[in-house]
Amino acid sequence: MTPSITARAQAALDYLETASTDPAFAHPARPEDAATAQLRLAHLLGIPLTNVTVTADLLRRRHQSGEPLLLTATDPADGENPQETYHFILSTPLLDHDPFHLLEPCPECDQPVPVRAITRLTDLAPALTRDLPDDVLDNLQFLFDPAHRDTCDFGPARD
Ligand SMILES: [Zn+2]
Repeated sequence: MTPSITARAQAALDYLETASTDPAFAHPARPEDAATAQLRLAHLLGIPLTNVTVTADLLRRRHQSGEPLLLTATDPADGENPQETYHFILSTPLLDHDPFHLLEPCPECDQPVPVRAITRLTDLAPALTRDLPDDVLDNLQFLFDPAHRDTCDFGPARD
């Protein structure tokens, strides 16, 4: 039986209230930010909440409230790539409309870096081809990501 919209809205609110008061949830990120981001990504992808995990993004920490989050979405499909995972960062969880960024291997150093913003499900379709977006060299999130290796031409340590 499919739950009603009202029932799903109430369940989301109940979950948010529960997770937000759990100091261990996604520690050391603020639990309310982490729970909100988890709900947003599950709804964006149209997958169950239990298929999204969220942690503080320790690599990109700013040591202040609203620090970045790392989210992992596990594909619930049982087709050709069952249980495939996708990793996203959310740089500024305090902003309701801050886009998720899909982490993909850097073409130069192969480290997982934010290559493209994902604000709607259709944004994921081109990512599945692994082609870099045409405007990737204008993407400051990509260029200055700390995950690039020191020797990477795209990384923050380049000339
Ligand atoms: Zn790189």
